Amino acid sequence: MDAPLSSEEWRRLFRELFSKGIWVRMWEPLCFHTTIRIGGQAALFAYPPDAQKLVEVLSVLRNTNVPFKVLGAGSNTVPPDGNLEMAVVSLSHMSRLDISDEYVTAEAGVPLFKLVNTCMVEGLSGLEFLAGIPGSVGGAVRMNAGAFGYSVAHALVEVCVLDEKGSRFTLTPQEAKFGYRRSVFFEKDWTVISAKFRLARSSPTTVRKSMLSYLEKRLATQPLELPSAGSVFKRPRDGFYVGKAVEELGLKGYRIGGATISERHAGFIVNLGGATYEDVVALVRLVKKRIKERYDVDLETEVEFWGEPP
Ligand SMILES: Cc1cc2nc3c(=O)[nH]c(=O)nc-3n(C[C@H](O)[C@H](O)[C@H](O)COP(=O)(O)OP(=O)(O)OC[C@H]3O[C@@H](n4cnc5c(N)ncnc54)[C@H](O)[C@@H]3O)c2cc1C
Repeated sequence: MDAPLSSEEWRRLFRELFSKGIWVRMWEPLCFHTTIRIGGQAALFAYPPDAQKLVEVLSVLRNTNVPFKVLGAGSNTVPPDGNLEMAVVSLSHMSRLDISDEYVTAEAGVPLFKLVNTCMVEGLSGLEFLAGIPGSVGGAVRMNAGAFGYSVAHALVEVCVLDEKGSRFTLTPQEAKFGYRRSVFFEKDWTVISAKFRLARSSPTTVRKSMLSYLEKRLATQPLELPSAGSVFKRPRDGFYVGKAVEELGLKGYRIGGATISERHAGFIVNLGGATYEDVVALVRLVKKRIKERYDVDLETEVEFWGEPP
């Protein structure tokens, strides 16, 4: 971006998007859209209702040369505080879900809770491990979200993608280069439009049972009652559990401002009320430093920080 837009230029952009039939807001508090309840006001916040409108929004933003980010359910994201001279494109209104035999196609904004519950009702098995993850399909594909030994890539057949030039195409799981919390979407400025999964025929009762067992495990181990962005760090290598290591360092319950290392799961940072971006960043830096000193391990964050990186 060359120079920040003036208020009048942001308003002009607002009117341009609104007149295309896109629901858009100005100075929208991002803390309403992140599970950790942190984030300042984005100058523009747009909700394209479908893939075609998404293409239009991104094309307008790119042509205007304003910085922008795509947001799913905001469960893996911490935006900075204050006024943010950026646009945020929320995919939460792109939430179509189609089922055909054992195939489920979900638009990027479909909440994982809805995906998992729909599969359960249909007696389709294969995504139960996602139960309790408060993300969206798009965010889960980008992150290759996973738990209990499974990840999104296991059941994925293809991903429909929008590239930086506005072209739409599909990727196979191989082309999406999935790995542990990693995908091609970290290398390319591409947006997930939808994902198609192939599941196994089962019965609603069986799927429900396995779903409930995963939910119980989460309830027992994660601080789900408090705002957080999930596990802050990636596992640096097999067998090294960050939560356990942080606990061994005696950092459970360590607090900076409104943010604290969870007593329930030391891999989580929770917002006790009024936590700021800086509070979370300071905690992350502290953990990274102490882990490096004690274990000579370099931690990488799984959570995405939209401001100054920790
Ligand atoms: C309580 C809790 C428990 C969690 N448990 C797990 C777990 O067990 N396993 C796990 O893997 N994760 C877990 N998470 C983290 C998080 O829920 C997942 O990573 C989830 O898949 C993120 O999806 P989202 O839609 O919320 O992503 P967002 O936070 O909205 O976005 C994350 C990143 O992806 C980008 N993005 C979003 N949508 C798209 C799209 N359509 N195309 C391209 N880029 C996009 C955003 O720009 C951002 O950079 C947990 C989080 C919480 C709060």
